[in-house]
Amino acid sequence: MLRHVVMDMDGVIYRGEALLPGVRTLLQQLQQRGVQVAFLTNNASRHRQELAEKLKAMGLPCTLEQVWGSAYITARYLAREAPAARVFVVGTAGTVRELQEAGLTVVPTHEGATHVVVGLDWGLTYEKLRQAHYAICQGAHFIATNLDPTYPDSLHTTAPGGGAIVAALRTSTGVAPQVMGKPQPTGLALIAAAWGVRPSEMVAVGDRLDTDIAAARAFGCRAVLVLTGVTRRAEAEQAPAALRPDAVIADLTELVPLLERWGRDESGPLPETHKKVDPEG
Ligand SMILES: [Mg+2]
Repeated sequence: MLRHVVMDMDGVIYRGEALLPGVRTLLQQLQQRGVQVAFLTNNASRHRQELAEKLKAMGLPCTLEQVWGSAYITARYLAREAPAARVFVVGTAGTVRELQEAGLTVVPTHEGATHVVVGLDWGLTYEKLRQAHYAICQGAHFIATNLDPTYPDSLHTTAPGGGAIVAALRTSTGVAPQVMGKPQPTGLALIAAAWGVRPSEMVAVGDRLDTDIAAARAFGCRAVLVLTGVTRRAEAEQAPAALRPDAVIADLTELVPLLERWGRDESGPLPETHKKVDPEG
């Protein structure tokens, strides 16, 4: 049995406010089998505590340490790579709080900023974009929590995501940001380091090829696509190698048997192992 599972949230655990079928049972089964679970989401608008509370409100027990949003990943990454950073933020209060809790200094204007962190910001103003633009043009390091073009919105199906705000600054400055969220493998790498495991010991589960599966491929762990979100089976089968999952499951009730099957053949080299063990995947 493989014992380290990283799950995306929206489209995997829930859709909007509705828990997906089999999730509560699955999490109990994983706990009984001693499987470590982390939740990894590109959502940067919420502090981990808010994300954990959403899961708890759905009857899913979880600890703060299990929840990895892209604002937290950004904070952890910067705390390690640039602990003296002075950060100008285009983002929510949740993003600011993650950075401050990681010991980073958040500055109110471009002056003295060494880094600019940009994500979804419901309080976006032209003035914030201008300050971020000044800082980046003066040489501050441009960091995007994620490049998601949209996020699900119950009223109008989607709303502009963090990627749309990042694109405004990319256009104005001509500078490409360093991206923290999926498809970059930074979050998976931080979780692996926290658990003390290698990529070959980990399984990533997600509903999007271009973020969840791409990040798993880039990191080198096994990738499972679950069809409860935005991707259909035919799209997964036609995907190029960098976006192709090792297995496709209809919903999470199929995950435990898959982890058991893979765990029996843990020693072989990764890509060949997948094909041998799960030819229909
Ligand atoms: Mg998702």
